[in-house]
Amino acid sequence: MNPVGVFGGTFDPVHFGHLRMAQEVAEYCGLESVRIIPAGIPPHRNPPHCEASHRMEMAKIATAGNPLFIPDEREVLKTSPCYSVETLLELRAELGPGKPLCLMVGADAFLGFPAWHRWRELFDLAHILVAQRPGFDIHSAITGVLAEEYAARSERDPAALRHFSCGRIVTIDITLLDISASMIRECLAKGASARYLLPEGVLDYIRNHGLYREKHAV
Ligand code: ATP
Repeated sequence: MNPVGVFGGTFDPVHFGHLRMAQEVAEYCGLESVRIIPAGIPPHRNPPHCEASHRMEMAKIATAGNPLFIPDEREVLKTSPCYSVETLLELRAELGPGKPLCLMVGADAFLGFPAWHRWRELFDLAHILVAQRPGFDIHSAITGVLAEEYAARSERDPAALRHFSCGRIVTIDITLLDISASMIRECLAKGASARYLLPEGVLDYIRNHGLYREKHAV
């Protein structure tokens, strides 16, 4: 059974760092599809700059034409803060107990796991696919309880994921793209170009809706 991928984030806005990561991780692990799930009200961080409906729309534009990616509105439709563990519980109920499910995260997000709500339960619901991200070295930064889980659950062979529904951790070397949504927001706020950091269609949407502009920026 080919695993299903889950990729969540604020996607404020979605950019090529996200898209390339999801593509490479999906190919490396033989995922049959990737649910792209923009966060509604993310509990772990400051509120997003852009409304959920805009972030959802940009995710749809960015993933259109790629049959591997399935934009999923479940979190943006919720009115209360949404935890990853709850989303995975929902997906697990929909897919059944035997289907391999893989939560993909960048190294920065993985290193922050111990602060996530009911984080240990994530391993009972999904495999975790950790993509390298510039500036975050898992092997030198991981400590404590997360290091213990990592040591116990690490899996080198991505083909093994299809034999279990959850519980393994695979670390993946991807093409490192040092792009972040915050750098894109900064560019746009000062009126600089963000071209080639994110899809043109997403940039058009940002322009057409006047997003990420500071009061005095042109
Ligand atoms: P911000 O700059 O606003 O914090 P971000 O660019 O980190 O945003 P998020 O939406 O917070 O984007 O990230 C969603 C997921 O994508 C996280 O798991 C994060 O680690 C991962 N991710 C984001 N950018 C990259 C990148 N350039 N390379 C690899 N993974 C990334």
